[in-house]
Amino acid sequence: MMQIPYFRNINTVKCDRCELRYPKREGNCPHCSELSENEVYELKARIEQEASGTRNLGLTMLLIAGIALVVLFVVASSE
Ligand SMILES: [Zn+2]
Repeated sequence: MMQIPYFRNINTVKCDRCELRYPKREGNCPHCSELSENEVYELKARIEQEASGTRNLGLTMLLIAGIALVVLFVVASSE
């Protein structure tokens, strides 16, 4: 997801509006303070979509790893 390494080392708060994290000392959320309600809605939808895409990618990798293991096992046992 939209994780900026720089943000990890300092105090961050979660924005009530867009649910993204931002540095506490900024006071205002840099992600959504200039966005309209509609734009915040779209931003959240996009983040949600990206998160589910990452989950799917993880599952696909797991599946590929599983298939590779089975293939290896079959090849090894046939020799
Ligand atoms: Zn925000």
